[in-house]
Amino acid sequence: MMDFLAQCRAIVGDGHVLATPADMASFLTDQRKRFTGKALAVLRPASVDQVAALVRACAEHRVALVPQGGNTGLVLGSVPDTSGAQVVLSLSRLNSIRQVDPVNRTMTVDAGCILQRIQEAAAAEGCLFPLSLAAEGSCTIGGNLATNAGGTAVLRYGNTRELCLGLEVVTPQGEIWNGLRGLRKDNTGYDLRDLFIGAEGTLGVITGAVLKLYPQPKASITALAALPSPAHALRLLVLMQDYCGASLSGFELMSRYCLDLVAGQFPQLPKPFAAAHPQYVLLELSSSESEQHAVGLLEQAIGAALERNVISDAVVASSVAQSTGLWQLREHIPLAQARAGKNIKHDISLPVSRIADFIAATGPHLDAAFPGCQLVCFGHLGDGNLHYNVAPPAGISDEAFLLNQDKVNRVVYDSVMSFGGSISAEHGIGALKREELAHYKSPVELNIMRAIKAALDPLGIMNPGKIL
Ligand SMILES: Cc1cc2nc3c(=O)[nH]c(=O)nc-3n(C[C@H](O)[C@H](O)[C@H](O)COP(=O)(O)OP(=O)(O)OC[C@H]3O[C@@H](n4cnc5c(N)ncnc54)[C@H](O)[C@@H]3O)c2cc1C
Repeated sequence: MMDFLAQCRAIVGDGHVLATPADMASFLTDQRKRFTGKALAVLRPASVDQVAALVRACAEHRVALVPQGGNTGLVLGSVPDTSGAQVVLSLSRLNSIRQVDPVNRTMTVDAGCILQRIQEAAAAEGCLFPLSLAAEGSCTIGGNLATNAGGTAVLRYGNTRELCLGLEVVTPQGEIWNGLRGLRKDNTGYDLRDLFIGAEGTLGVITGAVLKLYPQPKASITALAALPSPAHALRLLVLMQDYCGASLSGFELMSRYCLDLVAGQFPQLPKPFAAAHPQYVLLELSSSESEQHAVGLLEQAIGAALERNVISDAVVASSVAQSTGLWQLREHIPLAQARAGKNIKHDISLPVSRIADFIAATGPHLDAAFPGCQLVCFGHLGDGNLHYNVAPPAGISDEAFLLNQDKVNRVVYDSVMSFGGSISAEHGIGALKREELAHYKSPVELNIMRAIKAALDPLGIMNPGKIL
């Protein structure tokens, strides 16, 4: 292996082949600190040619590589296994904004660019890059593309896949595919771009991308509605879409249990209603016209919802500070959960129309199997994406409850499948959900996926053990 490392040092320079435990430590443990792998080395290329040369060296020496961006992924996709035989290929030095084309409304970037920097560069040109998630200060666009990340603006703008027009990829053979086309229409055979997006680094290393930019909205306005049930939330979604069309940019469901958790852990945050309600929806409207237009639309829609008994109460933010306060309630749910203790997390997707039935059916199944367990159920209802987390019953320790993880997963995922859903909405499969994927995907789908993997990466060096 000395030959291999010497070859890597010749490509990127001694200082960018990290091989001591201390230098490698931060690259080997996952975001939630559940798993620490071992690596032969961490390689830090600074150009696409260097990435290609390193991948060729890996192929020559049969060394498996794990592409890594910000290491914020939640499914153990970006960390190596425990063999000590894999290398981590960090894209963090590949971080230039290559070009902005305000007329084509596109931006071409290196894969290691931090998402927040891309948002800021778009804003500097008077444009919007709408991908937004809580990890935006440290995740990279390469990681966002490799996981097809979702985030808070999917309802209006789509997942990362919808925000990308072209890719540059280093193949498992170390060739460079330049697909950096800024085309909105391009029907010239198989869509390779879509193959690499969401592949979690198992088919190639994304080194660059052409991203779509949008006009900045003139105003956005936030409201919180209180409702009796998830079924009412679905009625509200349809009503809001009828009244507001594409202006509806956020629609987040939160149960009373979630907001009680937040109030308990963060008492300084706002308490918008005097009385408690079973469910809440955080709404956001963006307008390309004016604030007055957004407020007018929202007030009309909320008035209709109250009149038809779809909602019980509502508050509309009248300042940026109030709007931030309402969003903080939503954003503090994961933090409040973490402070309150451990739970078993599920990032699931369902047809929007079936979410209320899923919630009504799954709670009793869980309660029958684990009496008294608590549900932390919230999420991007407008996208059909729920974070459906199961916390221990009172009096049972986190550790004792987590021993039931596989059984809890089975109850939740069986129910998800029976409602036509998916076991991973936006976080991906990685190593964490690999066995679940094998359990739930049809043999036909799995065989097609395996055939694609074998065709593109016959040596099996590209992030092995992830997804498949
Ligand atoms: C607080 C917090 C909030 C989050 N919120 C959301 C959310 O709302 N929506 C959501 O979808 N996700 C969310 N995530 C998950 C995570 O941030 C995203 O999956 C993100 O897109 C990962 O980017 P990254 O650069 O950190 O990738 P990494 O974690 O480094 O890698 C993720 C996967 O992509 C692969 N990969 C990384 N870079 C490349 C590349 N250049 N080429 C090929 N493969 C590559 C890795 O091998 C790995 O399989 C959140 C995470 C945290 C910690």
